[in-house]
Amino acid sequence: MIKLKNTEQVGRIRESCRLLAAMFQAIRPMVVEGITTLELDAWAEDFIRKAGGKPAFKGYMGFPRTLCISINEEVIHGIPKDRRVRTGDLVSVDCGIDLKGYFSDMAITLPVGPVTETENLLLTATRASLDSAVQAIRHGGRVRDVAQAVSEVIKPHRFGIVHQYCGHGVGFSQHEEPQVPNAPSLGPNPRFVAGMVLAVEPMINLGKAEVRVLSDEWTVVTVDKKKSAHFEHTVAVWEDRTEILTLTD
Ligand code: MG
Ligand code: MG
Repeated sequence: MIKLKNTEQVGRIRESCRLLAAMFQAIRPMVVEGITTLELDAWAEDFIRKAGGKPAFKGYMGFPRTLCISINEEVIHGIPKDRRVRTGDLVSVDCGIDLKGYFSDMAITLPVGPVTETENLLLTATRASLDSAVQAIRHGGRVRDVAQAVSEVIKPHRFGIVHQYCGHGVGFSQHEEPQVPNAPSLGPNPRFVAGMVLAVEPMINLGKAEVRVLSDEWTVVTVDKKKSAHFEHTVAVWEDRTEILTLTD
């Protein structure tokens, strides 16, 4: 069942989203050569708890950490550990906050030092596909408009659009209906209506679209071991516009 939110509830979710966006703004310059993903995770958990929030991923279905950090061929759900970030890495950071029962979700992918031209293109194209997907979400439109928008941006580059994972409703919990696929799908195609809050999150691979899960039962990697990027915003659908909630002031 799709749970719609009223204006007051969207307001509470917006507070959660703004805290999350502030966390991302602060962590961005910390993702540099030599830092471990566990150090980033500990810093993020402290930041969130000091602001009165809870790390929404920690303990969710047994996930052990605050952040998902997925490096290079890792697509999503990477577990922070003693691995050091290196120059040339593409580091995807994904996080959710539970602020007094209202949930947010956001992800960015950062290049560490100089990366190749193709990798830079992967980052800008993935970011552009998120922007395009958000613009495609309109009251009265349909879920498949997102896949159409992502495809129009990504197809010319021949990058792989991950189809085994997708965006989702969010707000009262971390994952709600509807599913919001980034690639064409034959699944449900409900209408977007005012009051929906959605996590929109294209995952784009330099190579083929296929992914698999490592033996840690969390980390999703590309099958061809080529690098991947992931950007995510939480948005609210209003009758006359779609608002990105995960922005800083
Ligand atoms: Mg996320
Ligand atoms: Mg999400």
